[in-house]
Amino acid sequence: MERTAFISTTIPYVNARPHLGHALEFVETDAYARFMRTKLDDVFFLTGSDENALKNVLAAEAAKMSTADLVARNARAFQDLQSALRCVPDHFVRTSVDPLHLAGATAMWRRMEAAGDLYPRDYEGLYCVGCEQFYEPVELVDGRCPEHLTEPERVREQNWFFRLSRYQDDLLKSLESGALVIHPETRRNEVISFVRAGLADISVSRSATRARGWGIPVPGDDSQVMYVWIDALTNYTNALGWTADDPRYQRFWADATQRVHVMGKGVIRFHAVYWPAMLLSAGLPLPTDLVVHGYITAGGRKLGKSLGNAVDPDDLIARYGARAVRYALLATFAPFGDGDVTEERIVAAYNTDLANGLGNLVSRVTSMIGRYRGGVVPAGSLDGGLGPAVVTAARAIDSAMTGYDHRAAIQHLNTLVGQANAYVDEHAPWHLAKQAEEADRLDTCLLHTAAVVRALAALLRPFLPDAAEEILVTLGQPASYRLDPGTWLSGMAGTAVEKPAAIFPRIDTPAT
Ligand SMILES: [Zn+2]
Repeated sequence: MERTAFISTTIPYVNARPHLGHALEFVETDAYARFMRTKLDDVFFLTGSDENALKNVLAAEAAKMSTADLVARNARAFQDLQSALRCVPDHFVRTSVDPLHLAGATAMWRRMEAAGDLYPRDYEGLYCVGCEQFYEPVELVDGRCPEHLTEPERVREQNWFFRLSRYQDDLLKSLESGALVIHPETRRNEVISFVRAGLADISVSRSATRARGWGIPVPGDDSQVMYVWIDALTNYTNALGWTADDPRYQRFWADATQRVHVMGKGVIRFHAVYWPAMLLSAGLPLPTDLVVHGYITAGGRKLGKSLGNAVDPDDLIARYGARAVRYALLATFAPFGDGDVTEERIVAAYNTDLANGLGNLVSRVTSMIGRYRGGVVPAGSLDGGLGPAVVTAARAIDSAMTGYDHRAAIQHLNTLVGQANAYVDEHAPWHLAKQAEEADRLDTCLLHTAAVVRALAALLRPFLPDAAEEILVTLGQPASYRLDPGTWLSGMAGTAVEKPAAIFPRIDTPAT
């Protein structure tokens, strides 16, 4: 039986260019997808752009361009950022133009309607245009949106409503049984409390006039377009072609061992409550895992264009390189907490762990094999003693990544780098090389350190895929090499090692 999984980022609004918070979610999800691929037969990684939002219409009006042009231009900027950071999704869904999405959202509406779950009703509420969300007065901070710090508008109109209240018990069952797991557990507990407190029906359409005619029309009601959540959330199954008998839907959703959504904490309710309830209404399987990351902050506040403190990831990449930015996001941010970003932090993580740590290890091991053994990894007959460290690190990384903790995984990887560097210092091959009777010990030391470097490259792959391949190529190994801790030494002796390249050149500390 084939084992497959689905994993997605949320689809960001594309009313502006991406900020560093988007970059964090992209690299986290890409790293999780690459890790899952080492364990499963196939993984589908989905990302995209949420284009049918009023926010996009307002941004286009301000920029004096058509909404279609604005979303196309900005969606491209998000795709370019993903490429720069070596995030390689299987599909990028654009919700205003993807025919599978339009068909899927419409079919989802019809299914929910057929289930008796959609009905028209008058609605009046406090609406934040930035969030495209109605807020209860109690949710506001000093009368302002907690995300945007702006005052919401009072809006009254007739909408279609979804009978969310009908799914309260089924949702609780899924959450409490662990059929739907929310990481971390504190978020799971928040969601369970929210559902237990009672679910009110939610508005799932808005007037086509207020939406400026932009959005997916409600089937059978031209006066309304779908409200952002039914439209946006269904992208996950729509992109797999669930209405079109697409084999990808069966393989990566219906039959998948895991269906994972990665998201920021601001949209957890929509993914943990509204989306599963919609799936229950339509009779489709629920996601299995929701991974909720925190926010990158500046002085303790969330990054965002509307707050005027956005950090441009393209600037950081231009200054320090994509490798340093991707590494810092994965190595220094706690997966479920908030954290401030500074350029000093990016540079320090890169220089300490990669330039001085792993990079130095690769360089000294390949240089010594060149100098003492003509560039060919020798066969060693003795036990080098590093095997247990490799097995321990591989297990610890596996366990950390299974729990979506990329930072802990990288810490375990760096522990093994430290152990390997210490091993080289302790065995001092430069002394062994001067004594003919120590040839066996020198061979063993070189073989074992080369094999540890190869293991490290394989373990590094989810986090820095390009660097991992460069290290493997330097070692004369196939770029696709996968680590099996039980046979971590096999196939290493006899390979020709290239002259060491500077895989992690030092970055100059930013001027203060
Ligand atoms: Zn808001």
